[in-house]
Amino acid sequence: MTFSIALVPGDGIGPEVVEQAVEVLDAVGDKTGHVFNYVELEAGGCAIDSTSEPLPAETLETVKQCDALLLGAVGGPKWESLPGHLRPERALLGLRAGLGMFANLRPARLLPQLRTACPVKDEVLVKSNADGKPKFDILIVRELTGGLYFGERGRSADGKTAFDTEKYSWMEIERVLRVGYDAAMGRGKKICIVDKSNVLESSRLWREVAAVVSKDYPAVETNFLYVDNAAMQLIRAPGQFDVIVTSNLFGDILSDEASVLTGSIGMLPSASLGATVDKGCRMGMYEPIHGSAPDIAGKDSANPLGTILSAAMMLWYSFGLKKEARLIENAVDAVLDSGLRTVDIAGRSERTASEEIVGTRTMGAAVVKAVENGE
Ligand code: NAD
Repeated sequence: MTFSIALVPGDGIGPEVVEQAVEVLDAVGDKTGHVFNYVELEAGGCAIDSTSEPLPAETLETVKQCDALLLGAVGGPKWESLPGHLRPERALLGLRAGLGMFANLRPARLLPQLRTACPVKDEVLVKSNADGKPKFDILIVRELTGGLYFGERGRSADGKTAFDTEKYSWMEIERVLRVGYDAAMGRGKKICIVDKSNVLESSRLWREVAAVVSKDYPAVETNFLYVDNAAMQLIRAPGQFDVIVTSNLFGDILSDEASVLTGSIGMLPSASLGATVDKGCRMGMYEPIHGSAPDIAGKDSANPLGTILSAAMMLWYSFGLKKEARLIENAVDAVLDSGLRTVDIAGRSERTASEEIVGTRTMGAAVVKAVENGE
């Protein structure tokens, strides 16, 4: 099949890591016969420099014509003194809103090669794991365009009282729950819906919607947790979770908590999904969770694996190419097994003696080779 991918490399290390992800996608294409066509676009600081706008209208319009978007990172000290509406980060909000991205997916998987980067003990990690191994592999699905961050807010006339509103419609809840259930079907078939339904009316609506939506997924086991308990369980026994689906606010907090369990920020991918399903594709925006890292930009030392794994998510979630996504994930595993490490993940394994510290390009090239040799 042929897919068109919008590339927004952005600023700082963004272009460096996106370049490696493209090399890996091309290797997947060569191996499997799929064709990935790219359109490179500007957004963020580089767009401000050339057009005075963080998100030029042409960028958004062109992205909409593509099947998916792969983004590096935007921002940097050069643009920090600009007023809020002209800052590079506005490009992210503009893309999410313009593309209707309502579901943010953040997988947090502890790779055995980076075991010591995880701050919890083996006896915690083995809990609730059927095979008794110290591991976890979680997907957090966070609602992205509703709830407290978008509800009515304000101040009293004297400024001494403030309010924000948690508001969700049935439709907003249903569509993000379906993303979670669809994801669970391709994983461990377990879903945990996190809310605060003992207190919040909006959470009670989440449970009503879940009662209806879950009937369409009889193979998936559904559980509910209050958010305070979920925050504790993530540290107490992370192995019990497969897919967590939750609101914008709770997802924001819980996904940061989960990312700490995995080690380096350079490892983690993310996907933001919209509703549009066209030609069998679901439009999605894929990006590593890290920023533009100006402190290491241009030094060939950024970890490209978060972006490469974001490309794997794109193959799976937007294009339905599950086998091809696995090919990339297995290649990343193989490269880490071989001992290659970028600086951010060096010294994090028990087998430090076999580690070799490499730069961004060498790490990317190693993943390409592992894809070529992969099954
Ligand atoms: P950051 O994620 O860019 O960097 C934090 C630390 O992590 C730095 O020490 C950096 O060197 C390191 N790091 C980040 N990614 C790495 C990688 N792939 N490999 C190795 N080390 C890595 O966060 P920050 O310093 O708070 O922000 C820098 C700029 O990025 C700011 O302008 C911020 O607004 C922007 N930002 C953009 C995004 C985005 O585009 N999605 C997200 C967060 C921050």
